[in-house]
Amino acid sequence: MMNVFDQTYPFTTPQLTFDVDALEPYIDAQTMEIHHDKHHAGYVTKLNAALESHTKLHTKTLGELLSNLEKLPANIQKDIDNNGGGHANHSLFWNILSPIKTPASDDLIETMTESFGSFEAMQELLIETATKHFGSGWAWIVINQKGSLEITTTPNQDSPLTIGHTPILGIDVWEHAYYLHYQNRRPDYIKAILQIINWKNVSDLYAETITTR
Ligand code: MN
Repeated sequence: MMNVFDQTYPFTTPQLTFDVDALEPYIDAQTMEIHHDKHHAGYVTKLNAALESHTKLHTKTLGELLSNLEKLPANIQKDIDNNGGGHANHSLFWNILSPIKTPASDDLIETMTESFGSFEAMQELLIETATKHFGSGWAWIVINQKGSLEITTTPNQDSPLTIGHTPILGIDVWEHAYYLHYQNRRPDYIKAILQIINWKNVSDLYAETITTR
């Protein structure tokens, strides 16, 4: 799959690789449709609008923009943070979901076991971290600056890239991701997400990241 961080202006909303109802009963079709076609597409439109007159930035990749926020013109930093992050975060999110169960690689399972005790312990920590995050944001499995796996959160649409972390899995904990079906039951939504993780794609992202850093 094309790495979203390598894209340049003008940015486009990626097609889903599965039907909007493919993740039911875990994520309902209406939530998927609004989330992808309205929320994600909205971030892309606003990201392109913010960059339109900044032609020097049109050759910068999304990853470069998000990793160097403080070097961007002051009047567009917040727009890139919100909408560049929104585009990158959601593109990753769709890629790590799947209606078909796929296994994690032996490599990733081994690293997770070293970092968290076991694959199951990692999942428990991810559920707990995502549940406890206050307000809108994301829970992540990232590769940190030391090259180790870490479970973190970011507020709003902030990208882990901005603090030097490369995400390999993200869970959207904004209410727009679950409210129609789960209302206030965020823990149920997070547990449901863990039933539809595309561990093959997460493993590929992990392998790609550790070989290119
Ligand atoms: Mn979202």
